[in-house]
Amino acid sequence: MRAGVRVASRLWKRLDELSKFGFGDMGHFGFVREAPFRRTSPCDTLHQHDAEPAPVRRFAFSGYCVNHPQNRPGLVWFRRDLRLDDNPAWAAATAAHDEVVAIFVIEPGLMTAAGSIRRDQLLAHLHSLHDELRSLGGGIVVRTGPASTAVPRALIDCNASALYFNVDTTPFSAARDRAVERSATVPVHSFHGHTVHEPGAVLTKSGTLSQVFAPFYSKWSARPLSPWPAGGNGRPVTMSGEPIPLPSGPVRQEPGEQAAWRRLNTWLEDVDRYPQTRDLPAIEGTSALSADLKFGTLAARTVVDIVGTTTPGRAAFTRQIAWRDWWTHTLALRPDLPNAALRQQYDRIAWLDDPEGFDHWCTGTTGYPIVDAGMRQLVETGWMHNRVRMICASFLVKDLLIDWRRGERFFRHHLVDADVAQNAGNWQWVAGTGPDAAPYFRVFNPTVQSRKFDPKGDYIRRWLPQLQQVPSSIIHEPAAAGPLDLAAAGVTLGDTYPWPVVDHGHARLRAISAYKQALSDNAAC
Ligand SMILES: Cc1cc2nc3c(=O)[nH]c(=O)nc-3n(C[C@H](O)[C@H](O)[C@H](O)COP(=O)(O)OP(=O)(O)OC[C@H]3O[C@@H](n4cnc5c(N)ncnc54)[C@H](O)[C@@H]3O)c2cc1C
Repeated sequence: MRAGVRVASRLWKRLDELSKFGFGDMGHFGFVREAPFRRTSPCDTLHQHDAEPAPVRRFAFSGYCVNHPQNRPGLVWFRRDLRLDDNPAWAAATAAHDEVVAIFVIEPGLMTAAGSIRRDQLLAHLHSLHDELRSLGGGIVVRTGPASTAVPRALIDCNASALYFNVDTTPFSAARDRAVERSATVPVHSFHGHTVHEPGAVLTKSGTLSQVFAPFYSKWSARPLSPWPAGGNGRPVTMSGEPIPLPSGPVRQEPGEQAAWRRLNTWLEDVDRYPQTRDLPAIEGTSALSADLKFGTLAARTVVDIVGTTTPGRAAFTRQIAWRDWWTHTLALRPDLPNAALRQQYDRIAWLDDPEGFDHWCTGTTGYPIVDAGMRQLVETGWMHNRVRMICASFLVKDLLIDWRRGERFFRHHLVDADVAQNAGNWQWVAGTGPDAAPYFRVFNPTVQSRKFDPKGDYIRRWLPQLQQVPSSIIHEPAAAGPLDLAAAGVTLGDTYPWPVVDHGHARLRAISAYKQALSDNAAC
């Protein structure tokens, strides 16, 4: 069966199942339409407006009610949920209002913090969302921020009677949303549309977030997926806004929700091979869906619903999405995740101030080919394979003994999928300063990792063309090869390829000693 058909039929089957629940369990989602439960296929036109609006029941959700359809428009503030399907805020607004205005606020601070690859991808997604909304009679209204003034202004401009958005957990978003809520003169309805289970919903028996992933995962996977509100018949309308800036060049991935669905469909053909392919950076063995999840062109909950856990490959993949939830839940609880070691004692590590070492790492000139290839891939494409992210991060923290926060900021700037929770969480995991991290004395050996996960050196050759002719036997550690072998491959160390900036053996001992010292300083306090 074609993957697309499989997705659609699976979704319809799931919707059939949901409709049998009689909606009694859906109360906490704010509102539901009375039966019949009806949804369009995600790959088809997303919303249809020809049917009579169904009656809407009302009840409380997080302290608010969504009222009956109204004549005044609802304003939906899009942020990192650039989709119409499975978008709780959009669904709630289209069910409660006859007309709905969609707005996106360009925050200048966020735009300059993002590298050009992420910025361009965002702009391309905005154009796609605009086209999608235009085909339904509306469009995305773009205004320049700060949101705390742009959103209240937009509420007045379109005479909206309510504001809708999906919450985000970053400290920046939380502060921004509070500011907008304070200035809004109409009811504000916020939803959780970014994770599979909302922060705070997966807790230990004692009501806390597990500090170990495995128990979190077992509770996470036992919890049924909560249905989200069904969309209504509200008509997208538009008002004056600014032109959407054009991307500065070609974008990394085809933009828009439909393209994201195609990527998911394609991935379904390969997901069963995931346990064998996921750690091999030389091949396309992972889903490449992280940027869709970051921008919200796909909802994580939808992805999990469709992929499921029925085969080992599907289960392994879905488990990774649970990691994503775990870090998001952690950030919601610990907004200092990007700034402070969650295991406090590790904030006593005497990191080195080594601008030269940091520069070698950023520019992919460390003399460790797997690290250099990874850093080139990051800067050139905005993406890096997960295994290589771990190797590069470990190299900065353990081999160069440079503060993980510097690497976290560099990744965050360049990654197209940069997500504060995932990035900071994983950096803390690699540095051994966060929850569920490996003990500090287990230090990745970049050369061993390279031999294991890129055995033929194909990944290295792709990103380091100067090593193109180097045979697999010596490509992982050119400095250990004989000068004649290197000369035969056209490589001169210190000229066409750098000598290693550190000796891994010494660096490993230095890192262990610095970590140990931090622990003993802590014990002495
Ligand atoms: C130092 C470091 C920094 C990272 N920074 C980010 C980041 O800013 N944004 C980001 O989305 N991921 C980040 N990751 C996690 C992971 O590397 C990427 O999610 C993954 O490489 C994206 O490729 P994919 O979609 O093909 O992944 P797949 O292997 O296909 O996984 C599917 C999805 O599961 C989630 N996932 C996979 N691995 C992880 C993980 N370790 N932690 C959390 N979620 C995961 C992602 O949403 C991913 O799209 C980071 C990992 C490391 C080691």
